[in-house]
Amino acid sequence: MLAIRIHETGGPEKLRADDIPVPLPRGGEVRFTVEAAGVNFIDTYHRSGLYKVELPHTIGSEAAGRVTQVGEGVTGLKVGDRIATARATGAYAQEAVVAAAHAVRVPGGVSAQVAAAVLLQGMTAHYLACDTYPLKPGDTALIHAGAGGVGLLLIQIAKQRGARVITTVGSDGKVGLAREAGADAVCVYTRENFADAARAFTGGRGVDVAYDAVGKDTFDGTLNSLRPRGMFVSFGNASGPVPPFAPLVLSQKGSLFFTRPTLTHYTLTTDELQARASDLFAWVAAGKLKVRVGATFPLSAAADAHRALEGRGTTGKVLLVP
Ligand code: NDP
Repeated sequence: MLAIRIHETGGPEKLRADDIPVPLPRGGEVRFTVEAAGVNFIDTYHRSGLYKVELPHTIGSEAAGRVTQVGEGVTGLKVGDRIATARATGAYAQEAVVAAAHAVRVPGGVSAQVAAAVLLQGMTAHYLACDTYPLKPGDTALIHAGAGGVGLLLIQIAKQRGARVITTVGSDGKVGLAREAGADAVCVYTRENFADAARAFTGGRGVDVAYDAVGKDTFDGTLNSLRPRGMFVSFGNASGPVPPFAPLVLSQKGSLFFTRPTLTHYTLTTDELQARASDLFAWVAAGKLKVRVGATFPLSAAADAHRALEGRGTTGKVLLVP
C-alpha cells in the first residue's frame, strides 16, 4: 500500500511515497482503511524533527475510515465499523492501525471527511474552551490564528459558551472567515499591534484568557494582552517554540497563569475521549459547529499540503484523500 514516510527529518521534500506492507493490528488494535487523513501542524513537527519520532516513520495521526481487521482482545469494534481517531499510527497511508481505545465511532450523518476534519482540532478546541480555561458568559478571550483549523473551531465553541472573542489573522483574506465563525473583533496581526487591540477590546483591562499556538512570534504580545491573573494558554509552535523564560515575567505582567497543554492529557481515559468526540459530532449534526475543509490533496501530494500549511496559505482543515 501507499504510505507517506520520512527516512530523515527536514523539510516537506523529506516526505516520501513508499510502497509498504499493510500494517497488522496487534492485541487491542484495529486496522482500518483511510478514507480521509487530517493534516495537522503536529505532522510538520514530526517531519521537521521538532518532536522526535523513530525512523522510518509514517506521518499522520488523524484519520477516518472503516475497520478492516480486528486485533486480539478487541470487543467494542468489528470489521465494517466506521471510526475516526486522532491517534492512529501512520494515518498518511491507505490503511492504518490504531488502539481500539483511541478510536471513536462516526455517527451515520457524519462523512469520513468531516470526521477526519473535526476530530483532532475539534477536541483541542473543546478542551481549551471547556477545561483548560472553562469559558463562561462575559469572559474575554484572545484566539490567535483564528482562520486556521483549530482557530475557526475554537472561536465557535468560545462563542457558544458566551465569551467575547478577539482573534488574530495573518492576512485580510482571512478576516471574513474569522468573523463568520463569530469573532467579535479581528486583528490583522501582521500589520497591527494585537496587544493594543486586545487592550482596546477590553477597555484597557486585558483579556481573561489568551489561546496562543503561534508560539515564538506572539509570546511577548500575548503576555501584554492579558489582565492581571489572566491565563496564558500556550498550545503550539506554528512560528517556532516559545524560548525559555523566567517565571518572574509572569509576576511582572500581572501574576499570570501559564499552561502548556496537549490533547493527549485531555483525553486520558476512553470516557473522556468519547465524551469530547460525542459533543463534537452532536454539535456538527445540529449545525452548531461548522467544519470548514479549506483544501484537500491526494495522498501523494502530502508535501504540497505541508508547504501550504506552513506557508500560512490554508484556512480551516487540510485533508489528504487516499
Ligand atoms: P492552522 O490551520 O491554525 O495553521 C497554523 C496557522 O498559524 C497559520 O495558518 C497561520 O495563520 C498561523 N501562523 C502564524 N505564524 C506562522 C508562521 N510563522 N508559520 C506558519 N503559520 C503561522 O494549524 P492547526 O489548526 O493544525 O494548528 C494550530 C496550532 O495549534 C499549531 O501550533 C498546532 O501545533 C497547535 N495544536 C496544538 C494541540 C495541542 O493539544 N496542544 C492540538 C492541535 C493543534 P495566520 O496566517 O492567520 O497567522
